[in-house]
Amino acid sequence: MEEDDADYEDYYNTSEDPEMEVPQEEDPEQFDFECLATEDVERLFNECVEGVCAALPVKPSLAKLLLHTHAWNAKEITVLYTAGASKLLVDSRIKPANPPQTEAQSVRGCKSVSCSVCLLYYIGEHFRALACGHYFCKECWSTHFEIQINQGITTMMECMGQGCSLLVPEDFVLSILNKAILREKYQKFSFSDYVKSHPELRFCPGTNCSTIVLAKEPQSKRVTCKYCKVVFCFKCGSDYHAPTDCDTIKKWLTKCADDSETANYISANTKDCPKCSICIEKNGGCNHMQCYSCKFDFCWMCLLDWNSHGSEYYECSRYKENPNIANESAHAQAREALKKYLFYFERWENHARSLRLEEQTHQKIIDRINEKVMASEGTWIDWQYLRNAASLLAKCRYTLQYTYPFAYYMETGPRKALFEYQQAQLEAEIENLSWKIERAETTDRGELENQMDVAEKRRTTLLKDFLAV
Ligand SMILES: [Zn+2]
Ligand SMILES: [Zn+2]
Ligand SMILES: [Zn+2]
Ligand SMILES: [Zn+2]
Ligand SMILES: [Zn+2]
Ligand SMILES: [Zn+2]
Repeated sequence: MEEDDADYEDYYNTSEDPEMEVPQEEDPEQFDFECLATEDVERLFNECVEGVCAALPVKPSLAKLLLHTHAWNAKEITVLYTAGASKLLVDSRIKPANPPQTEAQSVRGCKSVSCSVCLLYYIGEHFRALACGHYFCKECWSTHFEIQINQGITTMMECMGQGCSLLVPEDFVLSILNKAILREKYQKFSFSDYVKSHPELRFCPGTNCSTIVLAKEPQSKRVTCKYCKVVFCFKCGSDYHAPTDCDTIKKWLTKCADDSETANYISANTKDCPKCSICIEKNGGCNHMQCYSCKFDFCWMCLLDWNSHGSEYYECSRYKENPNIANESAHAQAREALKKYLFYFERWENHARSLRLEEQTHQKIIDRINEKVMASEGTWIDWQYLRNAASLLAKCRYTLQYTYPFAYYMETGPRKALFEYQQAQLEAEIENLSWKIERAETTDRGELENQMDVAEKRRTTLLKDFLAV
């Protein structure tokens, strides 16, 4: 392992020499997106509908239905329509596979017809049907719509005919539905369905935020809502999770929720100093602890001497699997599996807690800067670097937290070894940064900024190599 480490060391040193200014490399998290309001998106939908109507002889309501069922791909719709209009309309549940019976077609002209749902008699004019010819009275349609809408079903509403799965288009619904409140609900739910079926659109998950994010390339990348500032993954809509991919983070979070009983005892705010045994409370984010009594420097995670955690050889983030586990008893294997999970979970959880504690540090920094500015010790701009340092620390630690589920599910091998090496480097530099920020008053600005550079470089290197989108 140590030999491998030496190789990776070169891998970094080439780009780290400050004399050799490398051109600004591409940011692995760079992502083009736009934050839109409901009206903007409605306009976008209308333009798509108009585009389809201009190219094909279909009504706007059917064009919208086609777009909705074909992921808003107008080009694909045109191709399919040209290849066989009838097949497309049947497949899209707009046209019935078999033409309607002739007797049904004459209903509208009748003087008195009974509705097959409510059994009441009305004049033919009072009946409506889709292309399938399943005629029902307007009252029954209206009741049908009301029930469906109240269940949240709108764009996928079907005909009431026995065994008929034809979809009810928007104009048909709105021509029958009278109650304003239901019309409003229908339009609201439909809009939400359209956004969900559009691969380039995503609702902002922020509470009470109606922003819709548009990205031409739908990837699992970081989006920050312009309005509510919530940060999320464009692809899955959950908390941003690089370098872990959408499926893996989902699996991890489910596992954490399932195993929360087992893992709960891990969250401890106090531990005993490994040297003098005095009780120590962790009230900062940094894992590099110093005993207030005996001054021993140790690691909060493994309780070993901090000196063994230099960036050259940082082992604390790496789980050492038992290479012979396959030959052990089922019981031993289960115990090993739990041990492994708890190792990763403890680090995941600890970084989450550090993030919260460092948020408090950030607040304290702002207060300290205010005091200094009031006392005419420099201006806000002079002290801005401290705030930048705290923000960068949060960004780096966040990524670091999400490296643990990634490593947990990774298969053992050279790629995992490289990942763990980079993770360890990031871990070491982040703790150095956190240590310096907690002691910002006595840390030299240049030194702090240098540490920021190193930490961010470690972070982007790891993402560049392992961020799959
Ligand atoms: Zn009826
Ligand atoms: Zn029908
Ligand atoms: Zn938002
Ligand atoms: Zn995702
Ligand atoms: Zn001590
Ligand atoms: Zn440690």
